[in-house]
Amino acid sequence: MRDSEIDLCGAEGGGRAPDMPYLAAEDCFAFRCAGCGGCCRGREDIVLSGYDLYRLSRRLGLPPKLTAQAFCRRYIGTVSRLPVLRLAPVRAAGNNCPFLTEGRCAVHQARPLVCALYPLGQEISPEGQASYYFQGTRCGGTVHEGTLAAYLEAQGIARREPLDILWACRCMELEWQAPGWEELFQPVVLRRFQAKVCQALYYRYDLERPWPQQFEENLLWLEGQKVRLAEMQQHIHRKNR
Ligand code: SF4
Ligand code: SF4
Repeated sequence: MRDSEIDLCGAEGGGRAPDMPYLAAEDCFAFRCAGCGGCCRGREDIVLSGYDLYRLSRRLGLPPKLTAQAFCRRYIGTVSRLPVLRLAPVRAAGNNCPFLTEGRCAVHQARPLVCALYPLGQEISPEGQASYYFQGTRCGGTVHEGTLAAYLEAQGIARREPLDILWACRCMELEWQAPGWEELFQPVVLRRFQAKVCQALYYRYDLERPWPQQFEENLLWLEGQKVRLAEMQQHIHRKNR
């Protein structure tokens, strides 16, 4: 799959199909899973949020930038125009997720949201409303059955939902601003600014401090960086006239 086909909101053409029903909290759903690790193989669409990377970095004891350099691909999303990080499959290991070890997830407690959700999908509206739908599996094995609320609780998704909503809503706001950045900055300066966006979204975190406060602080810092770079560009422009 090409990078351009996978953006912050997932793979192009992915998302909810018409036959995937939304679930209410008390709705039941059932699926079979043999725990074979098959859904961690050949996956190229595991996009990380800043919070996902923060959790993985804490689990690995590495700064977020090093975690990303070691385990992710980074590029600018074709639609969002924002930096996207996704787990880089290991070609030498059959294109498996870099964290798949002996058929198990080596970072289970800190696995990304996409992995914790499966076989559910999540949508977040611009108003900050999270909805869930059942994607289904075609697998055999043990039947898992229960309500949406119980599943979200058991997988740790309910606990992190406010942070995932914060991430999604702020990224949507940035996405709406991104065309303006491309008008404001010349290409060289735009690349510098995009590097700042990447720092704000993914890297500029102290792993000893809670994530959401730092995320909000980073977005304020980014505003300051935008003003500084615009002034610098203006200054160079005046000098070259
Ligand atoms: S959902 Fe299917 S592919 Fe994934 S671990 Fe379970 S049995 Fe394997
Ligand atoms: S992070 Fe863990 S659960 Fe997710 S794809 Fe990799 S091995 Fe599988």
